[in-house]
Amino acid sequence: MKDRLIPVTSVSSGLEQPITPDIHCLPIQVVNLCFVGSPVRPDEWVLVDAGMPKSAEQIIATASELYGEGKKPQAIILTHGHFDHVGAVEELVDYWNVPVYAHELELPFLTGQMDYPEPDTSVEGGLVAKMSRMFPNEGIDLGSNVYKLPDDGSVPHMPEWQWVHTPGHTQGHVSLFREKDRTMIAGDAFITVKQEYLFKVLTQEMEISGPPRYLTTDWDAAWDSVRKLEALKPNIAVTGHGHPMAGEELRENLSRLVQDFEKIAIPDHGKFVDGKKNDT
Ligand SMILES: [Zn+2]
Ligand SMILES: [Zn+2]
Repeated sequence: MKDRLIPVTSVSSGLEQPITPDIHCLPIQVVNLCFVGSPVRPDEWVLVDAGMPKSAEQIIATASELYGEGKKPQAIILTHGHFDHVGAVEELVDYWNVPVYAHELELPFLTGQMDYPEPDTSVEGGLVAKMSRMFPNEGIDLGSNVYKLPDDGSVPHMPEWQWVHTPGHTQGHVSLFREKDRTMIAGDAFITVKQEYLFKVLTQEMEISGPPRYLTTDWDAAWDSVRKLEALKPNIAVTGHGHPMAGEELRENLSRLVQDFEKIAIPDHGKFVDGKKNDT
């Protein structure tokens, strides 16, 4: 298990900034989740996102390694409700009995009221885009265990952090930001791997990318969200997919993404873009 727990400081050659020891990033298959909180204070930590389906055991085991046997988070914060970010959340809530927080606009998908649109398998991209028809798009039902994030931008049990509304990939998508060291947990607002291409997913080749194409429904909003995140000038970003990116590499790539969003991120065609992209 130990080798699957990858502290952000060691996953990427692109990291030149020292990272605080209170964020651990756990890649589960193709998606990342974060344990936020220093292991020296094992009763004060939060889980951000909840991985792939059937990964509850692995998440709980990692929590035990980091914080000690039986230690549970104070809350689970969700960047959004896609299946690969909430896969284990129902089991974790049953096991830990902790509250879950998400943006108000994401709540219908987390309380059994709405399903996400079917993935768009027609966007250009490789095998993962094609395979995305098999991805579950049904919302889950956390019942009364899920709450909306506070209106004032604070993040429950993460006192130094703020949440930033970054819609586009989903309506209620949020990213998290800590000003003191400019650390960002971006979710899928932008990612550092071309998630549509199986080869790139498998090799985790670093490449700045917009949100995963097959599931992103509002590209104008997605672009605005990336602008918003770039304006925060993050020092390090842990993204929902791909390796964390930091320092100059992050700044350069993020500003290139803002500049060339149409080229880098927005698919040329697809059911969520047709008629939207300029022909220039
Ligand atoms: Zn997503
Ligand atoms: Zn994702």
